[in-house]
Amino acid sequence: SNSVVLNDVRRVYGKGAGAVVALDGISISFARGTFTAVMGPSGSGKSTFLHCAAGLDRPTSGSVSIDDQPLAGLSERKLTELRRERIGFVFQSFNLLPALTVWQNVTLPQELDGRRPKRAAVAEVLERVGLSGRHKHRPGELSGGQQQRVAIARALVARPAVIFADEPTGALDTQTAADVLDLLREPVRSQGQTVIMVTHDPVAASYADQVVFLADGQLAGGLITPTAEQVA
Ligand code: ADP
Ligand code: ADP
Repeated sequence: SNSVVLNDVRRVYGKGAGAVVALDGISISFARGTFTAVMGPSGSGKSTFLHCAAGLDRPTSGSVSIDDQPLAGLSERKLTELRRERIGFVFQSFNLLPALTVWQNVTLPQELDGRRPKRAAVAEVLERVGLSGRHKHRPGELSGGQQQRVAIARALVARPAVIFADEPTGALDTQTAADVLDLLREPVRSQGQTVIMVTHDPVAASYADQVVFLADGQLAGGLITPTAEQVA
């Protein structure tokens, strides 16, 4: 079954002569338990695609569903609720709060949502990303790779159906990037989570089950499944 479905999605910025068609009729389904890389040159629409697919931005026309829930009819409040419950986000710049500890950064989204984070679940996810001993550290005391692993722990802790990652390895060196990509791939395998990752980096893309190319707001070339050698 599919966890994210886009049907003929268009996103036009502005109006009239200055209008920019960022997405030009995108139709694609992401099956549950798959890891997809979205690639394409700068300006091809990758950010807009991610924002529309994640319910952060509304398409000009066409439809998006997450976990069989069409987003079009939802109020802003319901949309925010759906994002919090079913989606995890990982960004290039980590987006951690510097004044909070690792533990507090990981639990913040749940706290903000009025939910009580389960200690065991937080401990387990920190262990999984290799940061058990660092839960009292602040982001400034950690390396870039460790900070990104905190961000991944934060995205995973509520076990969202879908994780959207925007250039998650863009600020990391090669070895650190590989560790982060392994962490993103693992829940796809073990828990059937769906990961959709925008990246410029072919090495990062090789970790995905499939690669989607955008060019001028359109899907180009369809799906390409990396070979086993590329994945290894
Ligand atoms: P990418 O992430 O691949 O670089 P974007 O989705 O950021 O592509 O942009 C796709 C196109 O839409 C580009 O031409 C860009 O300049 C334009 N665009 C993106 N966001 C806006 C915006 N808020 N207002 C106007 N044009 C935008
Ligand atoms: P990236 O593609 O790496 O996310 P961009 O520089 O394309 O970075 O976009 C950064 C932000 O600026 C995004 O929120 C995007 O929507 C917005 N943006 C991009 N192009 C334009 C534009 N031409 N006009 C206004 N906003 C834009």
